Amino acid sequence: MLVPALSWAGAAAVASGRSVLPHAWRAFSSSRAMASDQGKPAVPGVSEELSSRIKDKGLLRVDGFIGGDWVKAADGGTYQVLNPATGKPVATLPRLRHDETLAAIASAHSVLPAWSGLTAKQRGAVLRKWHQLATDAAEDIAAIMTAECGKPLAESRGEVASGLDSIDWSASECRRVSGQVLETTSRDRRMLVLRQPVGVVAAITPWNFPMSMITRKVAPALAAGCTVVLKPSEQTPLTALALAELADRAGLPEGALNVVHGDAPAIGSAIMASETVRKIGFTGSTAVGKMLMAQAANTVKRVSLELGGNAPFLVMEDADLALAARGVVASALRNSGQTCICANRVFVHDKVHDEFAARVAEIVKGLKVGDGFAPDTTHGPLINPAALDKVAAHCADAVSKGARVLAGGGKPASLPERLAGGSFFEPTVLAGATIDMRVFREETFGPLVPLFRFSDDDEAVALANDTEYGLAAYFYTRDLKRAWTLAERLEYGMIGVNEVAITADVAPFGGIKQSGLGREQGTIGLEEFLETKYVCMGLGYASDDDD
Ligand code: NAP
Repeated sequence: MLVPALSWAGAAAVASGRSVLPHAWRAFSSSRAMASDQGKPAVPGVSEELSSRIKDKGLLRVDGFIGGDWVKAADGGTYQVLNPATGKPVATLPRLRHDETLAAIASAHSVLPAWSGLTAKQRGAVLRKWHQLATDAAEDIAAIMTAECGKPLAESRGEVASGLDSIDWSASECRRVSGQVLETTSRDRRMLVLRQPVGVVAAITPWNFPMSMITRKVAPALAAGCTVVLKPSEQTPLTALALAELADRAGLPEGALNVVHGDAPAIGSAIMASETVRKIGFTGSTAVGKMLMAQAANTVKRVSLELGGNAPFLVMEDADLALAARGVVASALRNSGQTCICANRVFVHDKVHDEFAARVAEIVKGLKVGDGFAPDTTHGPLINPAALDKVAAHCADAVSKGARVLAGGGKPASLPERLAGGSFFEPTVLAGATIDMRVFREETFGPLVPLFRFSDDDEAVALANDTEYGLAAYFYTRDLKRAWTLAERLEYGMIGVNEVAITADVAPFGGIKQSGLGREQGTIGLEEFLETKYVCMGLGYASDDDD
């Protein structure tokens, strides 16, 4: 049976009203930890190459995770995860579909009363245990991530640290959730506002941040008292499954976190049609986000959408050019340009354009493209051949319309034979970019740095805002008045002023316009998983001034 009966000792204790927690879950979680597969030599379904890199083989899960059980596809279907650096298989997994998703939703629903019935302190303690186990497993998680999405190991480690921060923040922040007692409008009644978990949440996440896109949804949802059905990208499910394994070891009740992966449209339609799922948290493309938002209307689900971006990066005439050049390379080329907040269009004041362009080209020429596991690699491959084709097409389009290549410009000339099947494109700087080019209008999602010119602040703002997207924007200036004014005039959800490392567990992450709805991270990110309930309590005695 896919959906086992609720068997968690702590949850049962809560349901029966006994206050034996947190002892119950402590004993429970330690027995789970002992039952892990540490030291197992070979892992079915996982390539020998990946398996050999992982110390704790028990983290190499390939099945779906439903109701605390690891499950295969009912119809026996499978799919492969490929290493984007080599094009070779990393793992073979069951392709889960509609029925498994319904089982996951039912499982999440069955444990909801017990999980939401815990105190925030108790839920936070389970999350803290998850955080501890994931911290101990950080190197293994980073290696799994590099194997399935190609990013250099150092970047994977950074993402693991950021994902851990989301768990840690949520574990603490849930204790600060509070309602209100309102000043009453009548002496014979009292007025209260309660905050309660929204219920079963579905989280749908992309491949470019296989851990942090998950933890910034799942951790606050669980902390708030929701239960979760997670659908990671079928291109990077292994990181998600390792996290589920660790959550299980941490003593999360069976069914509180379920992972289904495989047939995205089938899983998505089961989630969206369900009346049990009360909210979806989605990160991905604007096209899929719009479709999910339309589908959510049928059951009036709450939606949080973190969608595409087309971030402007403004270099003002008074900018610190060395700082700005380092900033644009870090932002535009992070994860080989595959982040939603990557600088996509770089606008440079005429007066400093040539010096800035030379500085950026010089830095980019020193970068090293290759296998994410090689210690000297600074930039890994694109996620797949289709992504590579898009970047090449954007570059060719710009060059055909007059852009000049200052660095890079194509596939790397000298890669080892082993990487011949990889989706590599050189970090590329293009001067002379203009607004008729695809790089101005579309999200490239690859390692291109197109440089546009402007001559005054008004023109820079108009160019920057000329897009349907509104996720992140950056500008570099030394002028305080200009900094305030630009921050106010740019139509974006997040602004970096002389800084590109803007993401933090404490700060609201999200966009406006067609870049999304709602925010993740910070206090507001937890509130996304809470409902507001108004309670008007009559005190049962008559009063002279009743209304
Ligand atoms: P995507 O194609 O929209 O996929 C995102 C997720 O949606 C994946 O899990 C995907 O599953 C799933 N999906 C696809 N079709 C679906 C359907 N019909 N029903 C339900 N789920 C479905 O986006 P992507 O190409 O993976 O990610 C890149 C995009 O994400 C970029 O546009 C980027 O800007 C955006 N992004 C935004 C943020 C942000 O915070 N705003 C952060 C990161 C990325 P499969 O992969 O299994 O097909």
